[in-house]
Amino acid sequence: MYHTKTLSELSALLEAGDVTSVQLTEHFLQRIKVHDAKLNSFITVTEEQALKTAAEADKKRQAGNAGPLTGIPIAHKDIFCTRGVKTTCGSKMLDNFESPYNATVVEKMQQAGVVMLGKTNMDEFAMGSSNETSFYGAVKNPWNTRAVPGGSSGGSASSVAARLSPAATGTDTGGSIRQPASLCGITGLKPTYGRISRYGMIAFASSLDQAGPMAQSAEDCALLLNAMSGFDPKDSTSLEKEVPDYTADLNKPLDGLKIGLPKEYFGEGLDEDVNKVVQKAIAEYKAMGAEIIDINLPNTHLAVPVYYVVAPAECSSNLSRFDGVRFGHRCKDPKDLEDLYKRSRGEGFGEEVKRRILVGTYALSAGYYDAYYIKAQQLRRMISDDFSEAFKKVDVIMGPTSPETAFNIGEKSDDPISMYLSDIYTIAVNLAGLPGMSIPAGFSTKSSVSMPVGLQIIAGHFDESRLLNVAHQYQLKTDWHKQIPEAFK
Ligand code: GLN
Repeated sequence: MYHTKTLSELSALLEAGDVTSVQLTEHFLQRIKVHDAKLNSFITVTEEQALKTAAEADKKRQAGNAGPLTGIPIAHKDIFCTRGVKTTCGSKMLDNFESPYNATVVEKMQQAGVVMLGKTNMDEFAMGSSNETSFYGAVKNPWNTRAVPGGSSGGSASSVAARLSPAATGTDTGGSIRQPASLCGITGLKPTYGRISRYGMIAFASSLDQAGPMAQSAEDCALLLNAMSGFDPKDSTSLEKEVPDYTADLNKPLDGLKIGLPKEYFGEGLDEDVNKVVQKAIAEYKAMGAEIIDINLPNTHLAVPVYYVVAPAECSSNLSRFDGVRFGHRCKDPKDLEDLYKRSRGEGFGEEVKRRILVGTYALSAGYYDAYYIKAQQLRRMISDDFSEAFKKVDVIMGPTSPETAFNIGEKSDDPISMYLSDIYTIAVNLAGLPGMSIPAGFSTKSSVSMPVGLQIIAGHFDESRLLNVAHQYQLKTDWHKQIPEAFK
């Protein structure tokens, strides 16, 4: 059936005239209706609009004006502003918000002819690693509905893993594309900072946030990245750099590829089963002609503490715009302006968001700015320099995406530190602005239900083509990315 196919395969079917976009869209909408109650992966389903866009896409194709994504249904993380459609960012604060404009990513996807099925659930304001902080309730992992899908792009990951959508968009500030991709057994790519416009993507930590594709395969990610990337005058941090065809290098052989294995990514805290799966994947690369080189990223242990100063600092400033005045939640019958601010924000934000605003405000306060914020920025540079040194010796870096497989819902929700450590291998990549990917590499069979394990691949700035090539070659040799959870086949 259609949902067992990759986006690239669906594109070929559309091109051959074997299916129409309306048929595909109906198929996925039906799957959402039947299955999403078990997962809670969507906040909004845009059925009417989807069928209308699909019919337009079919007309475009008949007229000979179709590209590879014309008529392909996908889902958008609910962090992207979508004109005329509820855009919540997983928060009560924006439960009543309908965006008056489209994010650049949404606009670009529309131009490519993509059909939006709906908006996916996420941790509130993208803060979390489990999707439990959403105002709309926890998202479930399709491999085991008692487990979390990861976060913050957990709705996107869960919907793609269950094949309720062939692909989805996500955002990654400290791991939010790669970690849920790993925990749900799908392929996710966090591009270089500046590759994709952040305009209309609700800001969490502006110097770290980056959008990217979440799909079944590297080939699908390449097609989506082609459509999403590029300079945008509306985002001053988007780079004026040509967008290559990301599918062009997919088939390059890997002979002589130098893979760096950072000692720090295989130490204490790494689950034994996850390590085994990752080692097996690395052996596979060796068999494909790659050279394995041990490297060091000596400041890795500082990544989580540095991130939890920088990200909350930026979030405390970004989220000050939600004041109950211009948009979003407003408290009832405010006594005066101060009461309006206090109660609107107090009622609109959830616990984790409040925790971050408090930490960030503290770190930026006059007495502590030098001790925390400036110090964190200095260490951020050292973390970034570690990678620059490593990339003098190797082409890509590999390791686990996450230290363990999906944990149970509720297991870490009362322990923020243990939750923060879920991103121990992904956060440094954001601090350095590098591109990183997670691809399915096997399963952990430790518990009664087998759970997916992701392999992380990191490359130098703007080397997404290489990442995709390295991932695609592995996916030609293995079929981990083709596995579908039993209940959703
Ligand atoms: N889990 C990390 C956090 O809670 C990263 C989130 C993200 O990448 N958006 O901040």
